[in-house]
Amino acid sequence: MSHGIVWFRADLRLDDNPAWAAATSAHDEVTALFVVDPPLWDGAGEHRRDQLAAHLAALDAALRDGGGRLRVERGRPDAVVADVASDVDAELVHATTDITPYAVRRDRTVGEALDGRLVGHPGRYVHAPGTITTTSGDPYRVFTPFSRSWASTPWVPWPGEGEAGVASEPGDGLPEAGPPLMVGGEDAALDRLDEFLDRVDAYEEERDRPDLDTTSRLSADLKFGTLSPRMVAVRVGDGTESRRAFVRQLCWRDFYAQLMAHFPGTVDAPMRSEYEAMAWRDDPDGLEAWQEGRTGYPIVDAGMRQLAAEGWMHNRVRMITASFLVKDLLIDWREGERWFRRLLVDADLPQNVGNWQWVAGTGADAAPYFRVFNPVTQSKRFDPDGHYIRRWVPELRGLDGAAIHEPWTAGPLELAAAGITLGEDYPEPLVDHAEARERTLEAYRAARGD
Ligand code: FAD
Repeated sequence: MSHGIVWFRADLRLDDNPAWAAATSAHDEVTALFVVDPPLWDGAGEHRRDQLAAHLAALDAALRDGGGRLRVERGRPDAVVADVASDVDAELVHATTDITPYAVRRDRTVGEALDGRLVGHPGRYVHAPGTITTTSGDPYRVFTPFSRSWASTPWVPWPGEGEAGVASEPGDGLPEAGPPLMVGGEDAALDRLDEFLDRVDAYEEERDRPDLDTTSRLSADLKFGTLSPRMVAVRVGDGTESRRAFVRQLCWRDFYAQLMAHFPGTVDAPMRSEYEAMAWRDDPDGLEAWQEGRTGYPIVDAGMRQLAAEGWMHNRVRMITASFLVKDLLIDWREGERWFRRLLVDADLPQNVGNWQWVAGTGADAAPYFRVFNPVTQSKRFDPDGHYIRRWVPELRGLDGAAIHEPWTAGPLELAAAGITLGEDYPEPLVDHAEARERTLEAYRAARGD
């Protein structure tokens, strides 16, 4: 009897999962394995751990329906996977390929421990990183030509599920965790997709509005792989402007993944080498104020508090808060990337690094360095009535009109009527935006040698 292992990582689904399909077709019996890798588990904040634990519990429940279990073990993947492989006498170990430098190193070590019996499969992206290249075989560094090629390249077919039995040894068992942000598992993820499909046609018009909050919120399901990116793209389709705008975001996701696969050094180095010379400010108090949502800029504080409370933040607010750290406080984007990576429930290295480098202007196809978001203008434009701010910065709830976006411009009477003493109930602005902007432009020009 042939036995195979599916080593689940960020592909926590049974449907439209090439690794699962290949294993259940090639073997008579399959062990479904998840390894709690201590550095990854400990490095993830509470929100992501809770969400992961909920997905694992749901995957276990789905496997139980077929008489099996999810085998969960804790330890170094090379040792654990090799042990389980010899325990069940596995012919092959199947896994969905991941492209972060850590994953590449880990899989090389595990492959060696298994004498080459680790087989990688696609499944994490619409097109596997490395398959969309320029005619000369180089990676794309600019999004638009990448997206054209991405949209016109035929999909390499993924196999369908086979009929193997599933082993029922639970191993160490599921990790303990608190309540998740979202119900765990692929069925719940499909419900979230269905619910989004009911409102997808408002996406193009409303996607930049954190107060309306109508984006899909599928990022964590894509990150953990409770949804297949291809299945999401097919279900959304390209029938309307909104649907096309949404699928374009999935293309950005593939774009950043292929960038990281080709340029792994960009995890902690600027893609544009001229910015290696940036004189970032060392400002631990500023960094802490940003992390804790005490900058005195309400839209920034609202975003950072939502991140701390939920592990999630709207894309427009991610851009505003990231820009504030880098371009108003002139703090190294890597500090922000690390903070987001720890807290975000959807934290995903290629996406996080790619977007941080985009905001910092250090990335491949990034915002130009001289584009500095004005947090007040952004706030007025994208949270026009201040509803998003009021949700997360309750001490400002009593302010009306423009003052909710820039409380320091409110008169004493207005502040008193709202029950606010600036500097006590809510901070004075940490920096003057116009001055900070000049300081930043100077630092960027100096690094570039302009
Ligand atoms: P929707 O607007 O509904 O988009 C659909 C899907 O497309 C998302 O779920 C996501 O998978 C993908 N997508 C959307 N925008 C982007 C983008 N700019 N780059 C890459 N993929 C995108 N996204 C992550 O998944 N993980 C991260 O760690 C992450 N870090 C970020 C850090 C910063 C500084 C910024 C500005 C953005 C970051 N993003 C990250 C991208 C984006 O903010 C989130 O994907 C999006 O807010 C998730 O909400 P949604 O699912 O409702 O998005």
